[in-house]
Amino acid sequence: MALKIYSDVNVMADLQDFLKIGHCTSCKKDSFIIHRRHSGDKLCQNCFAQSIEKIIYKTISKYKMLQPKDKIVVALSGGKDSLTLLYNLIQIQEKNYQAESMIALSIDEGIHEYRDLSIKHARDFCKKYNIEHVVLSFKEKIGITLDEINKTREDLDNLRYACNYCAVIRRRLINDGARELGGNVIALGHNLTDMAETYLMNILFNRFHLISNQYLFKPASSDINRYFLKKIIPLMNVPEDEISLYSNIKKIDYHASHCPFREQDPILRKRVLNFIEECKYYSPEIEFNLFNGFLKLSEMFYSQSYPREYNSCEQCGYPSGNEKLCNYCQYVNKFRK
Ligand code: SF4
Ligand SMILES: [Zn+2]
Ligand SMILES: [Zn+2]
Repeated sequence: MALKIYSDVNVMADLQDFLKIGHCTSCKKDSFIIHRRHSGDKLCQNCFAQSIEKIIYKTISKYKMLQPKDKIVVALSGGKDSLTLLYNLIQIQEKNYQAESMIALSIDEGIHEYRDLSIKHARDFCKKYNIEHVVLSFKEKIGITLDEINKTREDLDNLRYACNYCAVIRRRLINDGARELGGNVIALGHNLTDMAETYLMNILFNRFHLISNQYLFKPASSDINRYFLKKIIPLMNVPEDEISLYSNIKKIDYHASHCPFREQDPILRKRVLNFIEECKYYSPEIEFNLFNGFLKLSEMFYSQSYPREYNSCEQCGYPSGNEKLCNYCQYVNKFRK
């Protein structure tokens, strides 16, 4: 099997762990076998890829994520997750004749030698599959790149890292950008590992309000939906290492390296991820347990605290919790030139 060479050593180790010669339990052929430890399945490459596509399809249909007339905007970074997502949505839409054409939306935060490269992969992919591709940049929307924010932030606020600013600003640009493009659903490429990691982070930091806010199936009538488009996460049942393997089998040309800020800032996220990986070695189902815990707890918290009171941001009108200004406006005011 021709494997792409990753810059990520952990992924290489995972792949070696996965691939052994053996007997596929699905098609019964002898081949390179991928051992899915959390389920016990031993699958050849084809059956493995088909199983990933089935999981994605089942997730979309079980949670009624899409309707035939939905206008989907796919948040596309050019990494393996978002390209795998778009690739699968294209296949699903091809079977649905009523489907509206999709749009891919990339956010260029302005991270030198990282985002420019990943957006190139996104652009090439969209060209190949004839998908409209729109790029919105921090520079154009708020007048400053993330690299520039990172240079000034130490004088402004020692407690915040590039990721804090990036996540809030990017989320808003995706939401508003998708709305301007006429979308009614935003498809995000978060995978099972991301979901498990975020959940554990929120527990460690006592952020139970975020667990409640992140409840995935808020009723369409909820207040919050007046401001934020519906988001769907079709890869939420697929672990990250399986997406790596799938995108290699499918020869998806993705951008493999990680954002430099993820490495530079002493964020806990990386340590939490390492912890999950370590637990997973002994209990392969650990990410599923965490994710299922998140689904139950977020639903419980959400239903207990809804309807809730919140302020409207004095500047943009979006919900701002107990503050006068939402986080996005606070950040933008700080940096707008
Ligand atoms: S790692 Fe942090 S800075 Fe980099 S893209 Fe993600 S949120 Fe933004
Ligand atoms: Zn097989
Ligand atoms: Zn605001």
